[in-house]
Amino acid sequence: MASNGRVPSYEGDAFSCPYCNVYATQRWTDVEWPKWWNVKPRFYHGWKWSCCSHCDTLALWGHHQLLVWPNRTLPGPCANEDMPPEILATYEEARQVLAISPRAAAGLLRLALQNLIDTLEPGAGSVNDKIGRLVQRGLEPSAAKAMDILRVVGNNAVHPGRLDVDGDAELVPALFEILNLVVHHVLTRPRQVEALFETLPAGAREAIERRDEPKALPPGRSSRKGARSSSNRKSVAYRDQSDRAESAVDC
Ligand SMILES: [Zn+2]
Repeated sequence: MASNGRVPSYEGDAFSCPYCNVYATQRWTDVEWPKWWNVKPRFYHGWKWSCCSHCDTLALWGHHQLLVWPNRTLPGPCANEDMPPEILATYEEARQVLAISPRAAAGLLRLALQNLIDTLEPGAGSVNDKIGRLVQRGLEPSAAKAMDILRVVGNNAVHPGRLDVDGDAELVPALFEILNLVVHHVLTRPRQVEALFETLPAGAREAIERRDEPKALPPGRSSRKGARSSSNRKSVAYRDQSDRAESAVDC
């Protein structure tokens, strides 16, 4: 998966800080020769400091692109920029433990998936059941398959199973990509489509919404069949944590 806006980049306005790992805006300044050297030009061409607005710590960049210092990055890809904060925290925790315990990382990623699914599909039921309900609501099969990979591998990491999570060096790192893929499906793409929809002329948008409003049907016919409302375009939509109902913790 391609890197996203959280990856530290030269002269980037904001990214995940290499120190505190918080996604934060960055201030940039040139690297100067000491004044008493009295050399010209005064600045190292292509060398800069970035300063994190969250932890106020400097990082050194060189050759217009390289993060020279600090030389430490967490394993695993950076999170999708649309990942909600409470799920991002679990994702970053998984990155921190990946090197010492792939099983723990897999369990945490499964927990992050469960939290995401609980916001998409509140109420009682196992993760397996909820993925099934999301499919019925229109979740794409590839997104459901990605969820199932994470669910099954995560379950095997926590409970004895047939998968050797620790024995496959590439399995758990791939799960980070899988969770990012899920977030892309259920959050990024709907957001992008909605943003483009908002660029349509108001009249066109209203006509589309009128077209999709539930129609009054002749007596005796179900009003549900064939009726699509504008809200149905967001039928698999992220809901805030405050809206989340209690749900069973299950597989
Ligand atoms: Zn920082």
